[in-house]
Amino acid sequence: MKNREETLANAGTDTKLCHIGNDPSDFFGFVNPPVVRASTVLFPDTRTMETRAQKYTYGTRGTPTTDALCNAIDELEGSAGTILVPSGLAAITVPFLAFLSAGDHALIVDSVYSPCRHFCDTMLTRLGVSVEYYDPTIGAGIEALIKPNTKLVHTEAPGSNTFEMQDIRVIADVAHRHGCVVTMDNTWATPLYFRPLDFGVDISIHAATKYPSGHSDVLFGTVSANKTYWRALDEARITLGICVSPDDSYQILRGLRTMGLRLEAHQKSALAVARWLEGRAEVATVLHPALPSFPGHEIWKRDFKGASGIFSFVLAVDDPAEFKPKARAFLDSLEIFGLGYSWGGYESLAVMVNLDDRKICKAPKEGPVIRLQIGLENVEDIIADLEKGFDAAAAI
Ligand SMILES: *Cc1c(COP(=O)(O)O)cnc(C)c1O
Repeated sequence: MKNREETLANAGTDTKLCHIGNDPSDFFGFVNPPVVRASTVLFPDTRTMETRAQKYTYGTRGTPTTDALCNAIDELEGSAGTILVPSGLAAITVPFLAFLSAGDHALIVDSVYSPCRHFCDTMLTRLGVSVEYYDPTIGAGIEALIKPNTKLVHTEAPGSNTFEMQDIRVIADVAHRHGCVVTMDNTWATPLYFRPLDFGVDISIHAATKYPSGHSDVLFGTVSANKTYWRALDEARITLGICVSPDDSYQILRGLRTMGLRLEAHQKSALAVARWLEGRAEVATVLHPALPSFPGHEIWKRDFKGASGIFSFVLAVDDPAEFKPKARAFLDSLEIFGLGYSWGGYESLAVMVNLDDRKICKAPKEGPVIRLQIGLENVEDIIADLEKGFDAAAAI
């Protein structure tokens, strides 16, 4: 590719995914970048060493493998820089540590990924940061919660497990008027279906464990910053000594190549299953932002380019004492769906959602919440499996 940058800048998403990151001509034409294992990097002389006048200086600072992935993510996110971290949870905690100090106040969306709440309520609190949870549907109303010491506003849309949508642009605008940094966990949509930085977010967080990995075998996180916050974010990574393995970085870059096609398949099957569930008498509600019946649907339609493969539904159960037994019967009868956390892999997964830690977005009264990750299996087989679940739940 002779005019690489120009060609890719004007190309479609799948074309980009096939060619971003590394330039094969840098490595003798091999299509993929080498897996570089490194701690020590040698310098040709003391002058180069003292002035650090070469591209690579030490393994923790980056290698051609990690650079290829960072470049690819920057391309997708439209970011000034990206750091790579060993898990999606670390992709939340590292920027929090980078931007928060003792005495600061942080606003965290109540439908947040639950281990983020644990970090905030334990370590962050111990370090002297006060944390407050807010309603995901708050919009411009977030202004009333901002105090003189509010430093960070964390968003996640759709929310974990219950999929509440947030008006990201409005929240970012208000937060910026008060000098706050705005972070967003964008794992559900990936930068293919939503680009946080285009909506005013400063820091885009991605659990690459999910769709970029795509095969349930790599733990990984990426954090991408705009120009304003890039230096401070990168400095925090170096100060904390956070780095990732070259093999994992390679696998994530490999996963990106097919992520667009996989997401399209996840999206199509998940919507088909969600619509089918909406028509079932055993279902109280389907929590999927792409369904017109979902309360946050208009925001999703306005701001997002697509929907991924994970959503929840509420099993209709009258007696709260039967919520768990019915949900267990449903889940234990499934054959194709595995019972497992995480998602974004090729296989379907189901889990009973626990919302006990919520302060504002409480569990629905209509029945237990079951979360489904719709994999790449044939959708008829997925639906037949769920039918078994409904039969089992009805039998008790
Ligand atoms: C899974 C997940 C994470 C954490 O990713 P891990 O790699 O499992 O630590 C963070 N945020 C969201 C929204 C997630 O779904």
